[in-house]
Amino acid sequence: MAVQQCKRSKMRVRQRKASKRYEGLEPHTCTNCGAACLPHRVCTKCGFYDGHQARQIMQTAAKAQPIRRPRLWHPMSS
Ligand SMILES: [Zn+2]
Repeated sequence: MAVQQCKRSKMRVRQRKASKRYEGLEPHTCTNCGAACLPHRVCTKCGFYDGHQARQIMQTAAKAQPIRRPRLWHPMSS
């Protein structure tokens, strides 16, 4: 059975793990449109990846107006 040479103190273990700590995703911008996007992913704004159009993105025109329904009569109103 392997025997531990010397006990690593909590401080030494924590110092070692601190250098390997996950610090989140690197900020990345699309090379085509300049929008912020995830690295190694197709841009969600323009569908560009690695110098070519990888996906077609539907361009939405004006935002659809919500349908206005006529107000219903209510005995407590008026
Ligand atoms: Zn883009």
